[in-house]
Amino acid sequence: MPLTPSKRSSKSPARPMPAVSPRVAEDARRYLVGGVNSPVRAFRQVNAEPLMLIQGQGAEVVGAGGERFVDFIMGWGALVLGHNPPEVMRALKQAMADGILMGLTHPGEVELARLIADAVPSVEQVRFTTSGTEACLTAVKLARAHTRRGRIVMFDGCYHGHSESLMARKTAGLVEALEQETISIPYHDRGAFATLMQRHGHDIAAVIVEPVAANMGVVVPDAEYLARMRELTAHHGALLIFDEVVTGFRVGYGGAQGLFGVDPDLTIFGKIIGGGLPIGAVGGSSRLMQRLAPSGEVYHGGTFAGHPLSMAAGIATLKALAAHPPYDGLDQLARRFADGLLLVAAQANVPLCVNSCGSMATVFFASTPVKNYAQATLSHREQFAQWANGLRARGILVPPSPLEALFISTAHTTQHVERVIEASRQVFASFKQ
Ligand SMILES: *Cc1c(COP(=O)(O)O)cnc(C)c1O
Repeated sequence: MPLTPSKRSSKSPARPMPAVSPRVAEDARRYLVGGVNSPVRAFRQVNAEPLMLIQGQGAEVVGAGGERFVDFIMGWGALVLGHNPPEVMRALKQAMADGILMGLTHPGEVELARLIADAVPSVEQVRFTTSGTEACLTAVKLARAHTRRGRIVMFDGCYHGHSESLMARKTAGLVEALEQETISIPYHDRGAFATLMQRHGHDIAAVIVEPVAANMGVVVPDAEYLARMRELTAHHGALLIFDEVVTGFRVGYGGAQGLFGVDPDLTIFGKIIGGGLPIGAVGGSSRLMQRLAPSGEVYHGGTFAGHPLSMAAGIATLKALAAHPPYDGLDQLARRFADGLLLVAAQANVPLCVNSCGSMATVFFASTPVKNYAQATLSHREQFAQWANGLRARGILVPPSPLEALFISTAHTTQHVERVIEASRQVFASFKQ
């Protein structure tokens, strides 16, 4: 059962469905830990069976059993142009024909770095990595070397990959000394931040933050909060790192820093800049970036750093975004999604809070606004699971966790958004009053 070709991809032939053994789910549990390679894919937070996907096209994906879904996971935000956008596919084919891996510098690395620096004024130089995790840990090392301080400040509910310093008290397997070097405080709380900086500002190497949070669900801070963070970090000589792995080229071509008019010292990118292929990047002023080897003493390197295919997909994606800025259209779709969902929820007496910023949104089953992690975790998990599983049964995929963002791409249309609203109306009607 091939996908109906969407408007964007009307020239691509319908592909035959590959055969998937019915045993594959069983084998996944046998050969992969927990059946997955990344925990959220296990669907444990919505008490459901994991789903395997075998094809994607435009805004739609196909499961291993041939079932079709409108996709709002969208590669966790990486696929801003939808699945298999023609311009990215063309660029990839050409890059593959030239050779998959060079092992030395490739002109694509220069071009993608230039595109990022042109889009984001606080960035003069870029270092590419193979994941957001690796970019975050590299930025932390750089900040420690630059300031000759040890402590890192982060915020409850923000995610910066799974490196030691940024996973303090969230995973087993860390040494206590390292855990003590990371301080986590509530997000979006100016008082807590000011107090912390007053007490410990002199030994803080860096403050790392998602300028719009996407990993406690979407939480949008006010501009004043980020501006004050900029002032206080500068005052105390700590670096300010914006983790724009999700927000970069998503909430606007210039990312969240462009939206709020606040320039960090270092920026982390990932997801969208790789056009769906593995990537991460650290960017900042040349003065700071010069600390990295071979110019400076902070080591970072990688066999696959600046991979030609990731560069090709990233360049094609950024060029498409620059040539036809989709941001107004995406905002409108997201607003329609939020308004529609709030309306059908109100009609069914289901308390709902929809947080959104540009084309990312989270539906919290909560009766009060969600402005930080503590409030996000108070949302009704059982109702979220019923909603997510109810949508899945109706051919719509949202992230299987109440603390993730869903993503709208340029391949989504008003019809896709109307479908999720109508399906939600049906699911809400089944909730116990
Ligand atoms: C996804 C994500 C990361 C980690 O990126 P990976 O490529 O998965 O390692 C870091 N920060 C934020 C904000 C993210 O959403």
